[in-house]
Amino acid sequence: MGARIGIDLGGTKIEAAVLDADGRVTHRARRATPAGQYDATVATVAGLVKTLEAEARVRASVGVATPGARSLVDGRIKNANSTCLNGRPLKEDLERALDREIRMANDANCFALSEAVDGAGAGASVVFGVILGTGVGGGVVVDRRIVTGANAIAGEWGHNPLPLPETSDHPLPLCYCGRRGCIETYLSGPALAADFAKAGAERVDAVEIARRAEGGEPRAVAAMERYEVRLARSLAGVINIIDPDVIVLGGGLSNVARLYPSVTRLVPGFVFSDEVRTRIVPPAHGDASGVRGAAWLWNEAAGEVR
Ligand SMILES: [Zn+2]
Repeated sequence: MGARIGIDLGGTKIEAAVLDADGRVTHRARRATPAGQYDATVATVAGLVKTLEAEARVRASVGVATPGARSLVDGRIKNANSTCLNGRPLKEDLERALDREIRMANDANCFALSEAVDGAGAGASVVFGVILGTGVGGGVVVDRRIVTGANAIAGEWGHNPLPLPETSDHPLPLCYCGRRGCIETYLSGPALAADFAKAGAERVDAVEIARRAEGGEPRAVAAMERYEVRLARSLAGVINIIDPDVIVLGGGLSNVARLYPSVTRLVPGFVFSDEVRTRIVPPAHGDASGVRGAAWLWNEAAGEVR
């Protein structure tokens, strides 16, 4: 297998990179996303591929990480926060523009794949990749292959209800999905900020709360402690079902160092096992995981979203 191109189609920017056979990035490029313009988005992605292929002097396989999911019913994009993609046959349109078959997967799944192939979960059989950012998502990779699922939602734990709600978890927050008490309404960055504000503190973002907790500010420490026990209860539910070897955290909150020892210590109290060997680790590739995972969709073991 020769060169692979991975594309990370985000809401504000489109990142692209060429990976050689060993997974090293040899060329990269980035363009602003033509927000709200579907045809221009397709043209920009195709243009990035052509530019990189000319620079690298290769014809590469192409994988694309997208928000949302590709409908298993009609192949059209659904659930994307870049709403101009919804209802569009993005894979087919890109294949026409690039004159080749491409592979496409949800961005959280690409994150999990990137970390499973040659990142923090390298060598592990079952890897759960978690996004803790503006939203809460996830992806499941088994033996370097994304588990897509019957409904293309495998790993979407963010819209499970928060397990074992305590007094301090009530009233259950309303989620944009229409339900109440979803894990995302407690574990996203905005949710942490809202929880801190609700406890009588000022309205600051999650990064600032983590920074203040590091400095020992009592209300920030308390907010982080509430966050950590919620995260531990939520991840324990995942462990009971798929029993991963490794859980890799991603998204903005994965930069909060205290989460790893705290959650590792708390999780066993909620898992149905006398011991918990699952490692909870930071990502190896950070922001590059989108392009890397997309490129690895053309790995002999990796599946595509059909
Ligand atoms: Zn929800």
